[in-house]
Amino acid sequence: MLCKLLYDVVPEKFHRPVIFSYGGRHMPREHKRSTGCVCNGIIYLNLRSMAFYGRHQYASQIAGIWREMLRVGFHEFGHVATERKWKGVTQKEYENCHNTHRRIERDAEKEAEAWILKILSCNGRLYQPDFLGVVDIIRRRHEQPLREVPRGSYFADRLQSYRCQITGGQLSLSDVAVNLHIKSYEKKLQIYGFIHKIADDLARVHVDSAGRSHHFWVWGDLPIIAQRLESSSKFERLRKEEEEYRENLKQQHVLLDMYDQRSGRQEGRGRPIQSPSL
Ligand SMILES: [Zn+2]
Repeated sequence: MLCKLLYDVVPEKFHRPVIFSYGGRHMPREHKRSTGCVCNGIIYLNLRSMAFYGRHQYASQIAGIWREMLRVGFHEFGHVATERKWKGVTQKEYENCHNTHRRIERDAEKEAEAWILKILSCNGRLYQPDFLGVVDIIRRRHEQPLREVPRGSYFADRLQSYRCQITGGQLSLSDVAVNLHIKSYEKKLQIYGFIHKIADDLARVHVDSAGRSHHFWVWGDLPIIAQRLESSSKFERLRKEEEEYRENLKQQHVLLDMYDQRSGRQEGRGRPIQSPSL
């Protein structure tokens, strides 16, 4: 599936042979631990590293791993697409110059995101298969069955994955908030409640044995939710309040710094905020 998507979406002039590796086997020695690389016109993708890095990124492990597989696959083709632009850069410069390195990687990432958006315009789940082939088989072999896992965050992860799998969802409420860059501290619950209000009609719902509803969304829902948020005056008000709260917090820290400097204190950043007598 990944092969087909890569070759369907990437323009033919950038096509290169792809070697899938598990755990760095058959990969160039210096890239054995990376998720992927381009070497001598061949693209290497390390399925094990992609599964490792992708599995805890989102509520659903399978959705996280699939997203990472797409990101890395297209990123490496992004390097092929932008190699002409960076033709004069030597391997040494790439490794030693932080700025050049960052710019080359950013260019490849941009290409990758554009290709992934292209897929999103055809399929809201990014053509995520139910099973991830060899990655899934090995992942399952190394993981304990759900009933044998005692408790803790690992259990919660597996439970979320299970719920996503049976509903066909990919993203939980907090995944949606993170992907829409809603980083809220003070108004978190209000904003979460608000997302529920405007996006529940798009969600896939799982009702657990205690009767609680768990909502999940897919990648294709994000642009619709973002649009609804933008056109809502209540969200605008919440965002303004959040900004004011952060501004206040910043000012209080500035006052504390001044107070510390005047009284010659170095520590004390973590103490409760009192009215400083300046
Ligand atoms: Zn790269």
